[in-house]
Amino acid sequence: TKSAASNFIKNIVIDDLQEGRVQEIVTRFPPEPNGYLHIGHAKSICLNFELADEFKGKTNLRFDDTNPVKEDTEYVESIMEDVKWLGFEWDNLFYASDYFEEMFNRAVLLIKKGKAYVCDLTAEEMRATRGTLTEPGQNSPYRDRSVEENLDLFTRMRAGEFKGGERVLRAKIDMSSSNITMRDPVLYRITHAHHHRTGDAWCIYPMYDFAHPISDAIEGITHSICTLEFEDHRPLYDWVIAECEMEATPHQYEFARLNITNTIMSKRYLKSLVDEGVVESWDDPRMPTISGMRRKGYTPEAIRSFCREIGVAKANSLVEESYLEYFIREDLKLKAPRTMAVLDPIKVVITNYPEGQVEWLDAEINAENPEMGVRQIPFSREIYIEREDFMENPPSKYFRLFPGNEVRLKHAYFIVCNEVIKNELGEVVELRCTYDPETKSGSGFTGRKVKGTIHWVEASMAVPAKLRLFEPLIEDSPELKDKPFLERINPNSMRVVNGFIEPNMKDAAAGDKFQFFRHGYFNVDKVKSDDGQLVFNRIVSLKSSFDP
Ligand code: ATP
Ligand code: MG
Ligand code: MG
Repeated sequence: TKSAASNFIKNIVIDDLQEGRVQEIVTRFPPEPNGYLHIGHAKSICLNFELADEFKGKTNLRFDDTNPVKEDTEYVESIMEDVKWLGFEWDNLFYASDYFEEMFNRAVLLIKKGKAYVCDLTAEEMRATRGTLTEPGQNSPYRDRSVEENLDLFTRMRAGEFKGGERVLRAKIDMSSSNITMRDPVLYRITHAHHHRTGDAWCIYPMYDFAHPISDAIEGITHSICTLEFEDHRPLYDWVIAECEMEATPHQYEFARLNITNTIMSKRYLKSLVDEGVVESWDDPRMPTISGMRRKGYTPEAIRSFCREIGVAKANSLVEESYLEYFIREDLKLKAPRTMAVLDPIKVVITNYPEGQVEWLDAEINAENPEMGVRQIPFSREIYIEREDFMENPPSKYFRLFPGNEVRLKHAYFIVCNEVIKNELGEVVELRCTYDPETKSGSGFTGRKVKGTIHWVEASMAVPAKLRLFEPLIEDSPELKDKPFLERINPNSMRVVNGFIEPNMKDAAAGDKFQFFRHGYFNVDKVKSDDGQLVFNRIVSLKSSFDP
């Protein structure tokens, strides 16, 4: 893997290695298995893995599975698949739940040191006594319980004697701290729920702020990288490490999370799109999940380049969606074979071409990458062209087909339109044209020039296919701004058209990517249509609104 550009975290790592504060850097990617990964997670994955790679360190994949109610093995499996697909290999696979016993013991240590207590306040009462930014909080009436009573109650919490929410274990720090996170935060809660790994062994679960530093320390993480919202939690992170007397002392560093225009990335929101049936699945190509992007046809190389180029900053910012698309085009430009597909077909009969004759024309597979060679495409008396490439009464400056005008058929001949056939509704159903054999592509013909080149597919061998075109999932107009997102769903977020593709694509496999001349890049979907046709997802159009 290529190394990331310089950034403040990398500079800290370099410093720590030079000064001998660490011998080897160890990072981790710590997802909670409560949903599929999204493009924001990709940024964190790239940062953690590439940083370790660059300095010959290690990276763990650790499932932060401390909330059994929302977690599931389906998510565990999808996360592993996505990390691998992005091109990374973890050195160790861990689960925070592997450390439950150790965490419990550390909590007991805190109690024995008088640094934690069992509190019977309800969640509501705790919120009400936490204070505000300008006002200190109030001590809990349970704060001065004896060590013996706390040990007894905590043991009974574990034994399942109390109902969910009845009691919690809190750190005893400082209810008047200027940092609200430090006002006796909850360390353990009671949750009677089946855990996807530990089953019913536990009914008390550690909170993130307790589980995370302990997990990091157990694994010998040197640089624990998280997003900016956790900046206020850093003193608590350090407190837990110190008071629990952990041997290793990992440090937390915060960076700005990735935000992309027009893209909502919280797992909670993405889950509701799936649950409400707005999309078909987590890997629906409209989803900003890694699996959705994979299905749409984004490549791991493009996503990694994007993450590298946007960099790692200390201040939140918004990245243009078109910037990500730019990296997709850049990656596919020289890799994807270029072919022709007609999305909205209209038949053209070439009246001076012999009936029953088929000729095979040479067509370069990728004009920008001649090494990809040449394919053969059939040409005959009947072809399909794009409906929008013909106008009966064109405006000036229209250079495509219209009565009396001559255009070039890509890779083939010049044709002139002589006659327009309509149905009883007055709709154009067929065009009659003639071709000029002397104008064959590649023959060196220079007799005259035409201004328009259009694409086409030979009719008798054309393969019908479903082509899916996408628009943003959520409408972004100002008058809808304050509506809940379920009322802002774009009804045209996925349009399926029945088109035709070149015959040499009929055996394309799921994940194969092509550039359809003038239409953009397309990816073969993993599922065929009910009638057995190939389904193509448009990855990105050819036009770029982004020019770096
Ligand atoms: P979400 O709010 O979308 O559910 P999360 O932060 O709760 O995300 P986790 O599974 O806890 O999801 O995240 C795993 C790691 O990915 C964390 O270190 C988190 O900081 C990081 N991460 C999540 N979203 C982003 C983002 N948009 N940009 C960068 N890193 C992110
Ligand atoms: Mg989280
Ligand atoms: Mg979350």
